[in-house]
Amino acid sequence: MTRFIFITGGVVSSLGKGIASSALGALLQARGYKVRLRKLDPYLNVDPGTMSPTQHGEVYVTDDGAETDLDLGHYERFTGVASRQSDSVSSGRIYSDVIAKERRGDYLGGTVQVIPHVTDAIKEFIRADLHDEDFCLCEIGGTVGDIESLPFLEAIRQLRNEQGHENCLFIHVTLLPYIKSAGELKTKPTQHSVKELLSVGIQPEILLCRSERPIPEGERKKIGLFCNIKPECVIEALDVDTIYNVPVKYHEQGFDEQVLRYFGCPTDKKPNLTPWKNIVQRMREPEGEVTIAIVGKYTSMLDSYKSLSEALVHGGIANNVRVNVNWLDSQVFEGADAMHHLEGVNGILVPGGFGERGTEGKIRAAQFAREKNIPYFGICFGMQMAVIEAARNLGGLPRATSSEFGDSDCAVVGLMTEWVKGNQLETRKSGGDMGGTMRLGAYACDLAKDSKVHAIYSADRIMERHRHRYEVNINYRAQLEKAGVVFAGMSPDGQLPEIIERKDHPWFVGVQFHPELKSKPLDPHPLFRGFIEAAVAQARLV
Ligand code: GLN
Repeated sequence: MTRFIFITGGVVSSLGKGIASSALGALLQARGYKVRLRKLDPYLNVDPGTMSPTQHGEVYVTDDGAETDLDLGHYERFTGVASRQSDSVSSGRIYSDVIAKERRGDYLGGTVQVIPHVTDAIKEFIRADLHDEDFCLCEIGGTVGDIESLPFLEAIRQLRNEQGHENCLFIHVTLLPYIKSAGELKTKPTQHSVKELLSVGIQPEILLCRSERPIPEGERKKIGLFCNIKPECVIEALDVDTIYNVPVKYHEQGFDEQVLRYFGCPTDKKPNLTPWKNIVQRMREPEGEVTIAIVGKYTSMLDSYKSLSEALVHGGIANNVRVNVNWLDSQVFEGADAMHHLEGVNGILVPGGFGERGTEGKIRAAQFAREKNIPYFGICFGMQMAVIEAARNLGGLPRATSSEFGDSDCAVVGLMTEWVKGNQLETRKSGGDMGGTMRLGAYACDLAKDSKVHAIYSADRIMERHRHRYEVNINYRAQLEKAGVVFAGMSPDGQLPEIIERKDHPWFVGVQFHPELKSKPLDPHPLFRGFIEAAVAQARLV
């Protein structure tokens, strides 16, 4: 039977619950257990798909096409377990399902209430789609004490009674602030936060205390005493130089051991953490460095590009170099003499994006990379912008654009209204719902035999994750090929261009999908490995 571990957070947000859950998942895995990680978010949006990336951070997409919270990206990066639709839920989704049932009459006229109907729906989500997993780790978003978290806390309280206490563990992540003037770490906010949990019937067994300073033994005992927790279960979680050092650090603090002890699992066999130690070592002592410019629209909130910045780190690990990133707002490039921002960089990356603002800047960045032979990596929108650039400047189509920016008689990038998924035809109307209606999730792509990407992937067919509405229009193939665009990857039916590259350039690749979503520190994505390798070669030239 699958055991459940619930991770809540207290005192403040941004304590790194997602990384903590991921690191625990990795530690349990390193001891031979099978894990799944799940996120329950209290907000009322049905999913993060329509939430602004500058407010909410990146929308992480799963193979099965769910638009989820960025923490699922951490889970995958740390454990390598591909997340699914059934691993992410919000209050909005739960409520909309409950209300849909009520409208259908499924409750047979009964009064529909938070307890039991909403809490039952939450419990159903937690238990669903589990097979032979030893542990299911469920992170509860938000901070204990928030009004909207209450149904989730009530649901996990009930679930523990139903599954048996020995099969459910509560871990609470808190903050021990350091007060400079007193020279002390303060335990009071943690005590209050645990009290708050107790008031809804949850006694945590393990406290993970985020702190910038080591916790003195006396304070650890004090926390244990006031919070009713064994002192050895008060785990110190100090700030680290890289998140990939967290599994090793937590293990040193006995985190995984206390978890296993709680469940009565053996703890004598130690986990193999050598792969984690090796990557941390590589990150600390790189042989060189490269600078990559990222020309995007959401640079004011770097969490919008979480997977992307991690994938670049992985590309660096694979090549033994440090990757410095210059985040550049694409609007800057709409000014006349802005190209000096790109002088001296070893690679230019234009990431995914939506809407017209800043696009001329992205197009100019692609042109600069093409003309100056600087490695270029265009992801989704970044591929579309590179294609528009080539069409305008080399393909004799000066009015080339995307229909995303309005009606046009030269939409080299156009709205997709139908495409094939598996054996099924998916269709969409223009002007329909915005939420959940893009081409989402994993699709196959066939690689041209003599292409650069074929060598990079060493495969004929790949599967990558998508999240877009528009697509390079294959009807312009002839003009684009004349402009030097090589169609290196196509959907299996030959209709949708998935990868473009250039022959007359050291490394110019545009992909319609999001490879960053599948990159992992222990298994860097081939395209990020290849891009950073090209940047290293470029750095040697200058
Ligand atoms: N806005 C573009 C589209 O919808 C690109 C999306 C993206 O970059 N993810 O096709």
